[in-house]
Amino acid sequence: MDNKQITVTSPLLPNLDEFHALLKEIWDSKWITNNGSFHRQLEAALAEYLKVPYVSLFTNGTLPLLTALQALRITGEVITTPYSFVATTHSIWWNGCKPVFVDVDPKTGNMDPDKIEAAITPKTTAIMPVHCYGKPCDVRRIKEIADKYGLKVIYDAAHAFALEIPKNEADYKLAFDEANNVFNPSQTAKKLEVETESILNWGDMSTLSFHATKVYNTIEGGAMIMHDAETKKRIDYLKNFGFAGETIVVGPGINSKVDEMRAAYGLLNLKQVDAAIEARKKTANIYRDALRRVNGVTFYEDMPGVKHNYSYFPMFIDAEKYGMTRDELYFKMKEGNVLGRRYFYPLISEFSTYRGLESARKENLPNAHKMADTVICLPMHHELSYGDMEKILKLIIK
Ligand SMILES: *Cc1c(COP(=O)(O)O)cnc(C)c1O
Repeated sequence: MDNKQITVTSPLLPNLDEFHALLKEIWDSKWITNNGSFHRQLEAALAEYLKVPYVSLFTNGTLPLLTALQALRITGEVITTPYSFVATTHSIWWNGCKPVFVDVDPKTGNMDPDKIEAAITPKTTAIMPVHCYGKPCDVRRIKEIADKYGLKVIYDAAHAFALEIPKNEADYKLAFDEANNVFNPSQTAKKLEVETESILNWGDMSTLSFHATKVYNTIEGGAMIMHDAETKKRIDYLKNFGFAGETIVVGPGINSKVDEMRAAYGLLNLKQVDAAIEARKKTANIYRDALRRVNGVTFYEDMPGVKHNYSYFPMFIDAEKYGMTRDELYFKMKEGNVLGRRYFYPLISEFSTYRGLESARKENLPNAHKMADTVICLPMHHELSYGDMEKILKLIIK
């Protein structure tokens, strides 16, 4: 019996000798934080890698959410999704705004664009969707609605590192039409070679998390993506207490400056993230091929023309057909030394801070509840072996 525990994730770590060499440079320079050389290099390297015009580094993925709402002077109500990590809604709360939950589309796990308009009131100023599991939101639809009502859009793109969608509208439509079938495990998305663009180009701003558990990490870290130099300048002030010069403070900024150690670590990890995504893709395809034959489990397929990042492998359990509930499977796997994760469960709308809100009522969020009650994320990272995958699948396939 193999007793090695298989964890749900494993951090992508740079080569220690290479990291040590960069640490030596930092020690020699004695410049350890405050927009140092590695900080500037990492911002430039990420902008190029992600194919976006401007990147501003942050110390985690929560502070850029808080800062985006500050920078855009968001007030009143912000429409968001309950099916996310709790930081999404916390950022709205910390800005003194009221989160308004709308239900998700079960086919994508993302905020259902058809339900946004009904949630808009005269107090609504912004929409904060999440590209859940790295599945793209329907950014074109969301933009149409936001433009119609004069709302800002801030994407929590914590799961969307390197996610690319078809650039051209017709290819985009095809990807999203086909997406209506991606929740059907009998369907394999057709390959489509098209020109793609970063999903981070959409919305007024997008935020990323570089936490240890994400596809790309700087231990703790994050970033904001913006589209123009003026905004980049303002955000850089805001993450440095609002300092715009030695003696000038232009706003109530916060401290989210990334130190040189993490920036250097991030530069090294960026060199190996493509290989890590490739390894994750192989795992996803092995899981899918094995699970397609299992009654009562569903999962997502790739969308045609979309460059996915394979950040998570969520699987949904229909207890009646599968013969076991999600929780029963979760504990069975745990006993077999395989850690899944009930992610996202419970819903954000169920936490004490938010459950009193009108929009948090269960009747308002049936799809999100169903997903939260049936989801289990399988182990997914860059160094799962075939043996690991076999062990995991054996516990699921009876
Ligand atoms: C990880 C995550 C965050 C928060 O990022 P941190 O870097 O941990 O602060 C926010 N939103 C979502 C959807 C996340 O998954």
